[in-house]
Amino acid sequence: MGRRKSKRRIRVRPRRTLPKVFQCPRCGAVSVSVTVDKGEGLVHVVCASCGLAEDFEYREYLHPVDYYAKFLDAYEAQAAAGA
Ligand SMILES: [Zn+2]
Repeated sequence: MGRRKSKRRIRVRPRRTLPKVFQCPRCGAVSVSVTVDKGEGLVHVVCASCGLAEDFEYREYLHPVDYYAKFLDAYEAQAAAGA
């Protein structure tokens, strides 16, 4: 009967609050917040500093950082379009 090797589990405890504030690609301020609106099935990504905003469809498996990535993509696409 092999004794189970006691695996040392080093688990980083999740922080009480997930990081939900990100850096804005336009103004550089760390004031971009991701708000999930499950009622509407939308996620609002808004920079509180310059007002840059995008809405995305809510997906259960996505994390705030994923919406932030979309937000960056959308911003770059707009910038590339030469707004
Ligand atoms: Zn901004």
